[in-house]
Amino acid sequence: MVQTESRTGSQPGAIPQQRVLRTELPGPRSRELAARRSAAVAPGVSSTLPLYIDAAEGAVLVDVDGNALIDLGSGIAVTTVGHAVPAVVDAVRDQVGRFTHTCFMVGPYEGYVEVCEQLNALTPGDHDKTSALFNSGAEAVENAVKIARRATGREAVVVFDHAYHGRTNLTMALTAKNMPYKDGFGPFAPEIYRAPMSYPLRDPSGMTGEEAAQRAIELIERQVGAARVACVLIEPVQGEGGFVVPAPGFLPALADWCRANGAVFAADEVQSGFCRTGAWFACEHEGVVPDLVTTAKGIGAGMPLAAVTGRSEMMASVHAGGLGGTYGGNPVACAAALAGIATMREGNLGAAANRIGETIAGRLDPLVAELPGIAERRGRGAMQALEFVKPGTLEPDSAAAGRIAAACHAQGVVVLTCGSWGNVIRLLPPLTISDALLDEGLGVLIDATRTVLAG
Ligand SMILES: *Cc1c(COP(=O)(O)O)cnc(C)c1O
Repeated sequence: MVQTESRTGSQPGAIPQQRVLRTELPGPRSRELAARRSAAVAPGVSSTLPLYIDAAEGAVLVDVDGNALIDLGSGIAVTTVGHAVPAVVDAVRDQVGRFTHTCFMVGPYEGYVEVCEQLNALTPGDHDKTSALFNSGAEAVENAVKIARRATGREAVVVFDHAYHGRTNLTMALTAKNMPYKDGFGPFAPEIYRAPMSYPLRDPSGMTGEEAAQRAIELIERQVGAARVACVLIEPVQGEGGFVVPAPGFLPALADWCRANGAVFAADEVQSGFCRTGAWFACEHEGVVPDLVTTAKGIGAGMPLAAVTGRSEMMASVHAGGLGGTYGGNPVACAAALAGIATMREGNLGAAANRIGETIAGRLDPLVAELPGIAERRGRGAMQALEFVKPGTLEPDSAAAGRIAAACHAQGVVVLTCGSWGNVIRLLPPLTISDALLDEGLGVLIDATRTVLAG
C-alpha cells in the first residue's frame, strides 16, 4: 500500500483512495491531542472517533499520524460529493479572495440568490417557491415553524416518535430522544405534539402506511384538534432516529390530511436530501410535494449552510425583516453549495446513490439472513442501516452496535451509530466513493459484525 504523508491534502489527487494503517489507532499524535482536548474542550461535546483529522479527499480521511481511513459517514451526510472536490475547493478559494461576508441583510450578493433559485427548482413540486438561507439544520427547522405559524395563524406543531430536528430550544422540543439531546435542558418550547411514526419493523405486522397514518391522525385530531395544527413536520426517512423508512402510503396520507385541514406539511430533508436517497429529495420516492422543505448537511459540500424552501404565498406571509440572521447564506458557503450542486448534477450522483445502495444491500442482506442478531437492513439509496437486536426478539442491542462500530473504527473504517436505542449502524458514504473502497469498507463491517455477534 502507498504510504501517505500527512498534510498532503492541498493538491487534488494527493491522497490515494486507500485505507492505510501506519500506527495503532489512535496513534501518538492523536493521543497527544486527546490530552490537550480534555483540558480545553467542554466535555459535553463528544466525538465518535478517537482520531484527529489532518486532511481529507474523496472518501478518505487522513489523521494526524498519517493513517488513512475509509469514510462511510460523510461527517453525518454532509460531504455527499466527497471531500476536497476540486470544483468546490476552487469555488471556495475564489469566493474567499473576493469577499467572505457582507451580511445578506446589509449588502446582498448573487450567490445567495442563485442558491435560492437552485433550491426552488430542485425541491419537489412545480409550484412557485421562494427560499431563505440559514447556517444549520436546527435553524432551518426553527424558521420553518415560524413560517408555518405565521402562514396559518395557528400554534400547534406535530412531530413524530424517533424524530430528530436539532439541539436548540425549539428543536430539542421537536426531537424525540431524551439522552443525550434533551436531558436536563428544559423547559422546552410549548405547543409541540408527538404522534406515532410508521416503523415497519416495530409496528403490528401487516400494518400499512395508510393505517399507520390513520393511527397518527386519530391522535392528532383527538389530542390537538385539526384546526389548531400549524404544521406536521416529518423526516421522510428518519436520520438520527434510526434510518426509519415509513411504510409506503404513510407520507402521502399525512400530506393529504394536511391539505384537507389547512395545515402546513413540512418535510425535514436535512439528512435525507441532496441525492442521498437516490433522488434529489426523499419525498420524491412517493411523489409527495411538501409545502415547506428544510435542507442543510448535504447542501453545502462541507460548508455550513441551510435553507427553508416553500410555497411562495406561504413564504410571503412573513413580514419583511421577519427572517434572517447575521451569517445566513454566507457567500463562501453559497459558492460551495453551487459547486456542490453542479457536481451532483454533472456526476449524476442520484444514480450513484442508488448503485451504492444496491451494493450495500448485495453485501449485507446475506449477513442479515445469516445472523439473528440483525433484525433488518433498511434504507433508501446511499442511506442504509442495520438494526441490531437480541436474537429472536425485537429487543434493541445497542451494546452490539457500539462494539461493531468501535471494531470498524479500530480497522480504519468510519461508520456511525444511530437509533432511539442506539442499536443501529448507519452508512452514509460520499456518493463519489469508488467501488473498491466501498467494498473494502463493507468487508471490514461484515467481519466486525460476525466477530462481535459470534462472541
Ligand atoms: C442534523 C439534522 C438536523 C439539525 O441540523 P444541524 O445542522 O445539526 O443543526 C435537523 N434535522 C435533521 C433531519 C437532521 O438530520
